[in-house]
Amino acid sequence: MSSSQYDVIVAGVGAMGSAACWHLAKRGLRVLGLERFDLGHAMGSSHGLTRIIRLAYFEGSHYVPIVKRAHQLWRETGDAAGLKLLHVTGSLDLAPEGLGPVESSLKSCIDHGLEHEVLDRDEISRRFPAFQLPEGHIGLWQADGGFVASEKAIYAHVGLAQSKGAEIRTGEPMLDWQPTADGGVTVKTERGTYSAGQLVITSGGWIEDAVPALKQRVRTVRQAIGWFTTRKPELFRQGVFPVFILSVEEGNFYGFPLYEHPGFKLGGPHFGREPMDPRDPDRTPSPNQLRLIRECLARYIPDAAGDPLTVKGCIYTVSPDEGFIIDAVPGVPQAVFASACSGHGFKFASAIGEILADLATEGRSAFDLSAFSLSRFDA
Ligand SMILES: Cc1cc2nc3c(=O)[nH]c(=O)nc-3n(C[C@H](O)[C@H](O)[C@H](O)COP(=O)(O)OP(=O)(O)OC[C@H]3O[C@@H](n4cnc5c(N)ncnc54)[C@H](O)[C@@H]3O)c2cc1C
Repeated sequence: MSSSQYDVIVAGVGAMGSAACWHLAKRGLRVLGLERFDLGHAMGSSHGLTRIIRLAYFEGSHYVPIVKRAHQLWRETGDAAGLKLLHVTGSLDLAPEGLGPVESSLKSCIDHGLEHEVLDRDEISRRFPAFQLPEGHIGLWQADGGFVASEKAIYAHVGLAQSKGAEIRTGEPMLDWQPTADGGVTVKTERGTYSAGQLVITSGGWIEDAVPALKQRVRTVRQAIGWFTTRKPELFRQGVFPVFILSVEEGNFYGFPLYEHPGFKLGGPHFGREPMDPRDPDRTPSPNQLRLIRECLARYIPDAAGDPLTVKGCIYTVSPDEGFIIDAVPGVPQAVFASACSGHGFKFASAIGEILADLATEGRSAFDLSAFSLSRFDA
């Protein structure tokens, strides 16, 4: 058994943890990143090539300052790593007029001065002929939206962190951690016990193992994504087709322009959540989720309703109000965590990594994190 001293240990090197490793190592700190599986694995929440980044945010205007910072950081991090992480395609929220999502996204644009356009159904069909929307649907177009290359983003953050001396150990889960009398932490794995001044916990779907205060507060659910044969790939290419979120009676679905795969990628239904235990190794999407995805394609995006080429399951870690939880472990200020991003966190990861580094090193963030506190769930 070895015993080593680090400034910060990061438990979980996925979307959030890899970004935290980079922002901590960049500050000259001795960083150890521990990862249960390998980098870019398909057992967590961050695989499948792409994640949407939207600045028009129907989930709430308070997310916009952080997503703006994330947008800037994705570009900077990609440049620093020599990888194209951010693809700006424009984003489209599509929903029945008056239902809420388009109006909420519109509010976030107005509150934060984001350029936008509200489009009626005819204009949506004219600009994006791949959609066959029901009567009464409208759209909110925001030109800065797009997608982040998700596994590449993790590789970029880890590569940059290693270039500043971070140690990243894969296949080595954190088994236990304890605060120490001198205000630090010890972390136990199968290979050793490590000590550090600070602990950053970013273990995604497994977070309640490390943060017992999250038990009963977060739940893990199975989600589905698939890539489908398209009849007219020219309609779905980058440059002509945006990322989108589509609210229809079957649920909320989201899709992407073609990217590094011959099929058209559609995910959802976003709220069709089926409980799953991350310890269950089976990540196969349920037949019901796949049926709903295929029905959505057949009805609303028929030129992409061909055979499935690839399907994957993935974990959402969901909080009671569907908002993030970014906080210190109760009573242990030297241990901070980010969790329960409820199926919409990836786009923020570059900024949440920076926020976690700020919390770990300075005990505060420049952003107002009150909406993300754990104590908001106290009765
Ligand atoms: C299908 C799907 C589609 C999505 N689409 C979008 C989207 O379009 N836009 C968007 O913004 N968000 C989206 N999300 C949500 C987003 O991907 C997640 O919020 C984000 O990936 C969560 O990142 P994370 O770092 O918390 O989790 P992960 O990336 O899963 O990382 C957690 C890591 O911790 C590791 N780990 C677990 N336990 C331990 C331990 N004890 N010790 C060490 N390591 C451990 C895991 O192996 C894992 O690598 C989507 C999610 C899914 C599943």
